[in-house]
Amino acid sequence: MPSIFTKIVNREIPAHIVAETTEFLAFLDINPLAAGHTLVIPKKEVDYLFDLDDETYTGLCIFAKIVAKGIEKVIQCERIGVTVIGLEVPHAHIHLIPINGVNDMNFSKPKLKMGQEELAAIATSIREALK
Ligand code: AMP
Repeated sequence: MPSIFTKIVNREIPAHIVAETTEFLAFLDINPLAAGHTLVIPKKEVDYLFDLDDETYTGLCIFAKIVAKGIEKVIQCERIGVTVIGLEVPHAHIHLIPINGVNDMNFSKPKLKMGQEELAAIATSIREALK
């Protein structure tokens, strides 16, 4: 069965997409730790990040860097934190999280409650910033 992220890639379920290439996709996390919390994924479905082939792995890291620069332009923060967990969704992904301190990376914190309109507006701003 395809992962939920493959379903997003195939537009079978909606997501607030911020960037896309032929191989990679970036979209907002639906349960964000911070405004602008974004996931970057390879379209190729591989569960574990470190099982990606080298080309996909390095391409994903470069894509994450590009997307992070776009997030920085629209979300006020000290920097973009980078995390890989992958315990919930078995499709490799990197979390990009705007942070001002180490506690902003705490995944056991309650997530933000953000409406679809707010998420859509953030995604649009990041897309614009990446143009
Ligand atoms: P983990 O696999 O532990 O890195 O966590 C998966 C992340 O994906 C969580 O932060 C979820 O909020 C996020 N997530 C799960 N389903 C979706 C979805 N349909 N759209 C956007 N983010 C999602």
